[in-house]
Amino acid sequence: MSITDTTLAEAEILLAQPRGFCAGVDRAIEIVERAIKLHGSPIYVRHEIVHNAYVVEDLRKKGAIFIEQLEEVPAGNTVIFSAHGVSKAVRAEAESRGLRVYDATCPLVTKVHIEVAKMRADGFDIVMIGHKGHPEVEGTMGQTGEGMHLVEDIEDVQALALPDPERIAFVTQTTLSVDDAAEIIAALKAKYPAIREPKKQDICYATQNRQDAVKFMAPQCDVVIVVGSPNSSNSNRLREVAEKRGIPSYMVDSPTQIDPAWIEGKRRIGVTAGASAPEALAQAVIARLHELGVRNVRALEGIEENIAFPLPRGLGLPA
Ligand code: SF4
Repeated sequence: MSITDTTLAEAEILLAQPRGFCAGVDRAIEIVERAIKLHGSPIYVRHEIVHNAYVVEDLRKKGAIFIEQLEEVPAGNTVIFSAHGVSKAVRAEAESRGLRVYDATCPLVTKVHIEVAKMRADGFDIVMIGHKGHPEVEGTMGQTGEGMHLVEDIEDVQALALPDPERIAFVTQTTLSVDDAAEIIAALKAKYPAIREPKKQDICYATQNRQDAVKFMAPQCDVVIVVGSPNSSNSNRLREVAEKRGIPSYMVDSPTQIDPAWIEGKRRIGVTAGASAPEALAQAVIARLHELGVRNVRALEGIEENIAFPLPRGLGLPA
């Protein structure tokens, strides 16, 4: 046994709690599976139902066809809106084309859409804190024709020139870094003291809990591996949370992406998974680490989540 093998045999994997699927992702996947059972394949899904390559591939095999534009859905077919939500224009287009729609928008994203509608009805301009080009941001910005202003960072806040500083509100993307968002919100409040904020923060419980779990785990680790796809916002934020604490951290979509050099000489290897990454992938990562010589696994303590969202009408009966 080499020195490295000996070190790895004594090393341990720390497992973050909570990690992996949230209630919105569970619900979105179940909507696709139930729609396929009910109507047969193909079922069209606008955009990746959740941002995870493994999940998308699995549903593709079961009969889902993923599209980006509604015009790709043949007349008379069924389309499912992804967990990230859609703009009013997309909803109207589906209706005008007579498509059967199941809406897998996470209810916590819908909550933000409702906030936007109410505040626009009250005559407020709305600043959205989010990542440009992310489908959730496009969907939320598209809840109203005008009066929405996207900011990604403090520089964007400084550049804002809004018509009435007394009638401004803000909302956020649900999967932001809690700490980065807090800094941007502080800058907004400093510039616009009368800005109206959401009654309950828009960053969702799953994002908050997973980031808190990494904040607890990372200081105990020499390296952190996050299971998640490159386009998953909340998975990227988990990697950043660990990295900001000075811990080398990597994101992998599959166990084959683990570079043995990452764990060489390391005593504690933290593993977590984004809200769209299945537990099967986290377990496959653990199995790969075992193969590489790490023997011990320790699940950390953390919040037990017990949240479930109801399915849309028409799909809610037991399968
Ligand atoms: S990460 Fe949050 S907002 Fe996104 S689907 Fe999960 S619970 Fe909903």
